[in-house]
Amino acid sequence: MSKASRSRRSRTQSSRTEPSRPARPAPAPAPAPTDPAVPCPCGRAESYGDCCGRFHRGDASAPTAERLMRSRYCAFVVLDVPYLLRTWHPSARPADLDLDPAVRWTGLDILRTEGGSAFHQEGVVEFRAHYVHEGEADSQHEVSRFVRVDGQWTYLDGQNSGS
Ligand SMILES: [Zn+2]
Repeated sequence: MSKASRSRRSRTQSSRTEPSRPARPAPAPAPAPTDPAVPCPCGRAESYGDCCGRFHRGDASAPTAERLMRSRYCAFVVLDVPYLLRTWHPSARPADLDLDPAVRWTGLDILRTEGGSAFHQEGVVEFRAHYVHEGEADSQHEVSRFVRVDGQWTYLDGQNSGS
């Protein structure tokens, strides 16, 4: 990513959760975004309460694979383990999930989607999720597969993608 696009991005997102800039030292920890009025950590322009918070609370379900991906990323941010488990495909769902509280998720980039719309039964979402761990900024690049179960999108599996 070029410097120009990074700085443009940081200006347009200055009031939102900023994606990490890996070359820089980790910024001070932000408050946990469980307040429904804060900008949604998934990067969309809505508040957490109106965006992924609705899915986490169970008031609505993600209409597309991409929205499910975003809401699952967001569940990592707010440490919502039950949501992660219930949106996991039954064939792949772990019995439990231990989230490392030392990992602070700092931003999500959706790189590519395939299928996964209201008209599909399957979808693929490629993303890069940024995080800071022990002061080191890093990111996870993954290609995830999503499948509908009883009409609801679920996360099937993901493959780590090089850099
Ligand atoms: Zn969201």
